Amino acid sequence: MPESWKGAERVDLIIVGGGMVGLTLANALKGLGWRIVIIERGGAQVLHSLGLDCRVSAIVAGNVQMLRATGAWEWMQRRAQPLVQMRVWDDQHAGGIRFDASEIGLPYLGYLVENSNLQQGLLQNLEQDEGIEWCAPAEITDICWHEDAVSIVVDGERRFSAPLIVGADGGRSWLREQAGIDCWRRDYGQKGIVATVRPRQHHHGAAFQRFMRTGPLAMLPMCGGLCSIVWSNDNEQADGLMAMDDASFLEALNEAFGPVLGDIVEVGRRAAFPLRAQLVRHLVRPRLALIGDAAHTIHPLAGLGVNLGMRDAMVLAQELVDARRFDEDWGSMGVLKRYMKQRLPDILSVMGGMEGFHRLFTSALPGLHVLRGTGMRLIGNAGPIKQLLMRNATGLSLPVPRRIA
Ligand SMILES: Cc1cc2nc3c(=O)[nH]c(=O)nc-3n(C[C@H](O)[C@H](O)[C@H](O)COP(=O)(O)OP(=O)(O)OC[C@H]3O[C@@H](n4cnc5c(N)ncnc54)[C@H](O)[C@@H]3O)c2cc1C
Repeated sequence: MPESWKGAERVDLIIVGGGMVGLTLANALKGLGWRIVIIERGGAQVLHSLGLDCRVSAIVAGNVQMLRATGAWEWMQRRAQPLVQMRVWDDQHAGGIRFDASEIGLPYLGYLVENSNLQQGLLQNLEQDEGIEWCAPAEITDICWHEDAVSIVVDGERRFSAPLIVGADGGRSWLREQAGIDCWRRDYGQKGIVATVRPRQHHHGAAFQRFMRTGPLAMLPMCGGLCSIVWSNDNEQADGLMAMDDASFLEALNEAFGPVLGDIVEVGRRAAFPLRAQLVRHLVRPRLALIGDAAHTIHPLAGLGVNLGMRDAMVLAQELVDARRFDEDWGSMGVLKRYMKQRLPDILSVMGGMEGFHRLFTSALPGLHVLRGTGMRLIGNAGPIKQLLMRNATGLSLPVPRRIA
């Protein structure tokens, strides 16, 4: 390391981005004696909609188990809504598929959690670990890559160096850019409208997804009988829906969703997010690993984005712990490639699946709707295939990192 960086505080790990995925990594390493610095830019406002954060995530059962193992789940479960059933149908066919947690012997398929609740829970769970430092709001103002370490300057003042820096700074990752890592990108030309709504009937823990030519509409169960919607639409149509007053929006929503929960009678504040898919060309390079949206972003139609990121975090944590146990340099390519090799199959299959689903449901190819309807009926009636799909979707069929502690 050059002389000029020698005075930097030496830590074991630097995490850039204290969102849901960066904090999952820190939680996975909690209590193991790691000295970690998390740099979080901050500044994102929580948008409340009927008293709930309008950004919510469906956390699949496999990841709920992992969050429980870190102790973080205790901090967020009070506001989490169990998901016990999922119903999917399209706008061309009366039939659809219903997935029940009981079909695979589970009490729930996952939980719906507000993003801010998830992030706060993960952060609170770190409080007992004095080795983990939360720097927020803060930004890296200089970075230097050495052969055996990476050094950073935070807000022009504090200097840190570590064997490894992890990019968990989201889809527009600053760190990924600094490292000169390119991405494959696809803009869907769509926006996802999110809001909390109040249906007349209780959801009883069921999520509903209606696929339409213009994009899917998801109605996700939340605490207190409320639902959170994610309504994907082509940009122009989404802008039109956003510009409507609440009464006109509710009319459009009721028409699109139908009477499954009775009328939707109230809608809170709405927000819209552009929908893209992207995947980095390199998940790792010497002294750097990318996790979460910094590495891959997917269409929210299956609600798997943060779930994939959490699995990145847990697998990386396991590799880091193993490397330290065997006196290996955990920022070296040997260790980082082990993380990459374990994660690529899952990432590629989920991304491929999302692309396939998106095309299948938005394509206007003649006859495709018949194929879709037949496919849904076949899956719905084929017990073992359906169960396999459900176990995959809940993350329960994936290799779970061995106990980290
Ligand atoms: C409409 C919609 C609905 C979705 N629903 C679901 C769902 O139900 N289930 C699911 O699994 N996924 C869902 N997703 C995807 C999910 O939101 C993302 O995958 C998830 O937010 C990624 O988490 P992350 O921590 O990797 O990145 P982010 O959530 O983007 O967090 C990145 C963090 O890094 C910080 N940061 C950024 N730049 C810097 C910097 N230079 N320095 C320091 N800090 C920085 C940011 O402030 C932020 O806190 C949805 C996405 C959308 C758009």
